Amino acid sequence: MSATSVQLPDLQFNISGLFKGPLGGTRSYELRVPVSELDQLDEGFDVSQPLEGSVRLLRTNETVLARLRGAMAVQLECGRCLERFEAELDIAVEEEFHPSVDVLTGRPFHDTGDDAALVIDEHHILDMSEVVRQAILLELPLSPLCREDCAGLCPVCGANRNFEACMCAQEATNLRWVGLSALIDPQTDEK
Ligand SMILES: [Zn+2]
Ligand SMILES: [Zn+2]
Repeated sequence: MSATSVQLPDLQFNISGLFKGPLGGTRSYELRVPVSELDQLDEGFDVSQPLEGSVRLLRTNETVLARLRGAMAVQLECGRCLERFEAELDIAVEEEFHPSVDVLTGRPFHDTGDDAALVIDEHHILDMSEVVRQAILLELPLSPLCREDCAGLCPVCGANRNFEACMCAQEATNLRWVGLSALIDPQTDEK
């Protein structure tokens, strides 16, 4: 699984220094992952602004707690009017990563059956690419709207009602009146 997923250099952190330091030690990083990199993560989203924020790593007894906070933007298609628009996404990730080898001795740990996305590789690289990919997918709206009150497309002529007022609704109303008067008129005539 980890072999097929894309690994982004900007989301990889070498934790060997952290593990040589004291328990509770931390490292903080400024984060800026370019659009071209983020777009490789998944075909399910179309990134338009880089991910900017920060990452903080905390060494626990046997693991590293990784905390990422950031913001980025994607291009979405409105479900009502089909126009493309840009949506900002807040990305927040908090995960516990497990080393696969002992940093000090180089001895491999037993495979504990941990989620592959949360395993620090034998070169002491903690890779957040997969957890960030999942966080982005979670943030995507299920039914994107370019704005709360998007008026959508006219089902008759296809005009985008946000930009142009077509006459279809007007004509439908007129037709209804014609129908009504046709029902009423013959009876009134008889009297
Ligand atoms: Zn719309
Ligand atoms: Zn219309």
